Amino acid sequence: MDLGMSTRVKALRDQIAAMVRDEIAPLDTEYHAEVLVGDRWEMTPRQTEILEGLKTRARDAGLWNLWLTDSDKGHGLTTVEYAHLAEEMGRVHIAAEVFNCNAPDTGNMEVFERYGTQAMKDQWLVPLMAGQVRSAYLMTEPDVASSDATNIAMTCMRDGDDYILNGEKWWATGAGDPRCAVYIVMVRTGDADTPKHQRHSMIVVDAGLEGIEKIRPMQVYGSDDAPHGHMHMRFTNVRVPAANMLLGEGRGFEIAQGRLGPGRIHHCMRAIGQAEAALEMMCKRSIDREAFGKPLSHLGANFDIIANCRMKIEQARLLCLKAAWMMDQGDARAAAPWISQIKVVAPQMALEVIDEAVQMHGAMGISQDTPLAGAWAAMRTLRLADGPDAVHRRQVARAELRKHTQAKI
Ligand SMILES: Cc1cc2nc3c(=O)[nH]c(=O)nc-3n(C[C@H](O)[C@H](O)[C@H](O)COP(=O)(O)OP(=O)(O)OC[C@H]3O[C@@H](n4cnc5c(N)ncnc54)[C@H](O)[C@@H]3O)c2cc1C
Repeated sequence: MDLGMSTRVKALRDQIAAMVRDEIAPLDTEYHAEVLVGDRWEMTPRQTEILEGLKTRARDAGLWNLWLTDSDKGHGLTTVEYAHLAEEMGRVHIAAEVFNCNAPDTGNMEVFERYGTQAMKDQWLVPLMAGQVRSAYLMTEPDVASSDATNIAMTCMRDGDDYILNGEKWWATGAGDPRCAVYIVMVRTGDADTPKHQRHSMIVVDAGLEGIEKIRPMQVYGSDDAPHGHMHMRFTNVRVPAANMLLGEGRGFEIAQGRLGPGRIHHCMRAIGQAEAALEMMCKRSIDREAFGKPLSHLGANFDIIANCRMKIEQARLLCLKAAWMMDQGDARAAAPWISQIKVVAPQMALEVIDEAVQMHGAMGISQDTPLAGAWAAMRTLRLADGPDAVHRRQVARAELRKHTQAKI
C-alpha cells in the first residue's frame, strides 16, 4: 500500500501550495469582503476579477480539474495522489474553485462523466470542466428525514416527452450562485410496490426552467454564504425533458453511490488542510503574543494542546489516505465503510483543532479578523452535510458486524 507522493505529485503539490500561499490567500479576505458590496447574490466586478484572474493562472499552469481521478481526461491521478493536492486547496476558502476542484461541482461533473449521455456531456460537462458555469445537487427536503434518502419525496411524473416535478428541496449548496446553470435532482419515480432502493431517480434540471422558485437562503450560524448560498427551493409543475433522466428511472441510488463517495472524501481531504492551516495560525499566534511575561505557547497546557492537534491531524491524514487507497482498488462496496470512517473522523478532528486555534487567538479568534470562525462553522456543518456522523457510524458498524454473522444487518 503506497500512500506517499510520487515525484510527479510532489511537483504538483509544491506548485499548488505555492499558489495557495502566495496568490490565493492574500486575496481571499478581499474576495469575501466584496459580498458586502451591492447585491449579495451577484458577483461584484472585483470578485469576478479576483476569481477569474486566479482561475486563468491555475489553468495556464496546468493546475486544473485535478479531481478527475481514474479517467483518461484531466491528469489521470489516483485518489491517493489527489488527496495530497486537495489538502493544500483546503487551506484557503476559495482555493478549490480556483483549481476547478470545488464542491458540489466535482461531484456533479463526476455524474455527467460517468452516467451522462453525450448530449448531457456536451451541454453541461464541457462548460463545468471549463469553469464557465456552476451547478447544485438537490437531494435534501424540509419535510422528510433526508439522512435516509429512501424518504425523498419530490414527485416526478411522466407526461409525454417530459417529466413534471413538484416538491421542495433545501440546503441546495451553490444554487444561489448567479453562475449556477444546472441542478442534479433526486426525485421519487417509483410507488410503494417498487423495491425501496429502486424508487428514486436522478434527473438533470436546467436552472432556468419555469416553476423553480428560490424561497430563501438557509443560514449557517447566521451566515447565508452569499453569493453561493444554500437555497430552500420550491418546484411547481417544472417540466423537464424525459431525455434528462440519468441512466433511467429507479437508478438514483446507484448514481448516489458513485457521486457521494468521491465528494465525501474530497471534503475530508480539504478538512485536513483546514486543520493544518489552523494549527499553523495557532502556533504563530502563541509564539508572537505574550501574557504573564511569557509567550502564550509556554503557558498552562498549551504545549499539550499543540502536540495533541499535531497528533490528531496525522492520524486523520493516514486514515484519509487509506480510504483513498481503498477507493483506488476499484471495489466501491469495500471502500464505503472506509469513506464513512474518515467522514466521521476528519470533520470532528478539524473542528477540534480549529476550536483550539480560536481559543489561542482570544476574542479575535471568533471575529471577522481571522478565517477561523468561518472555518469552524464550515467544519461543524460538515458533520451533517453529505450524511450526518450517526449515519456513517452505522455504515462502519454494519460492515464490522457482517464479519461475524450471516444474518441481515
Ligand atoms: C451547509 C450544508 C450544506 C448542505 N448542502 C447540501 C446540498 O448541496 N445538497 C443536498 O441535497 N443537501 C445538502 N445538505 C443537507 C444535508 O446533506 C442533510 O442535512 C443531511 O443529509 C441530514 O438530513 P436532515 O437534515 O434531513 O437530517 P435528518 O435526516 O432529520 O437527521 C437528523 C439527525 O437524526 C439523527 N440520525 C439520523 N439517522 C440516524 C441513525 N441511523 N442513527 C442515529 N441517529 C441518526 C442524526 O443525529 C441526524 O443528524 C447540506 C447541509 C448543510 C448543513
